[in-house]
Amino acid sequence: MARQKMVEAASMGLLAESAMIAHGRGEAYDYLLGEKTIGSASLAISEAAARLSKAKNPVISVNGNTVVLAGRDLIRLAAIIGCPIEVNIYYRTEERIRGLLSLLDEQREEVASGTPPDGWIGDWRGCVLSVTILGSDPDDSIDGLEGPRSLCCADGIGNADVILVPLEDGDRCEALVSLGKQVLVIDLNPLSRTARKATVTIVDEVSRAAEELVKSALEAGSPTEWDNEWCLKDALSVISDAGSLI
Ligand code: ATP
Ligand code: MG
Repeated sequence: MARQKMVEAASMGLLAESAMIAHGRGEAYDYLLGEKTIGSASLAISEAAARLSKAKNPVISVNGNTVVLAGRDLIRLAAIIGCPIEVNIYYRTEERIRGLLSLLDEQREEVASGTPPDGWIGDWRGCVLSVTILGSDPDDSIDGLEGPRSLCCADGIGNADVILVPLEDGDRCEALVSLGKQVLVIDLNPLSRTARKATVTIVDEVSRAAEELVKSALEAGSPTEWDNEWCLKDALSVISDAGSLI
């Protein structure tokens, strides 16, 4: 089903040419992890939810693959946290940005009309509809990057202290960390540059992780002294033990 969503999104012009290759890389790692959320990823999800909840200016940055696979749950998460979503893509074209913004608009309406998550108290529809979706008019840039991939919005990534950015690229992750921001990523490859540079790495499939983030955000605790290297090593030890899956 996830592959079919990607195929349809590609034919609608919502994805960069390399999106399928990135998806395939993710699928390969997911097999090795047993296609489930491993224990250290659950801890990383709780940590990310805590850091988003306590942030001054949190933001969720999304690209094409993320909107297609996990857009609805990330809108739920943004509603609970009370933060904007910014469409920010590596290979920026105005057509793809417009397409992704309008898909997110549709998803927001759908989520607003649906049932609130268990444990939510309050005006769900109003809260979801108040989630700002940024990205059409970038008015800021990420220091250390050049060209269209450096563009961002001041009200989103520009002024954020904590960024959740699923499926980020290594260069951009590094640039954001160098600016002193906390960078929370979701990446199935524990050895990618993104996974290794991030503040908190959730080694999990983006749609599974987004669903769990929604639950965690409703009962978020306080941030801890997070040991990200331990988390990556744990994912690698699960992968190296994948023979037990047979
Ligand atoms: P890096 O730039 O961080 O070294 P990369 O160049 O290999 O990594 P990118 O294309 O920049 O990869 O980022 C895509 C990342 O997203 C890959 O590490 C891939 O494994 C991961 N990925 C792809 N699909 C999913 C998914 N559905 N859920 C979680 N992670 C995914
Ligand atoms: Mg990359």
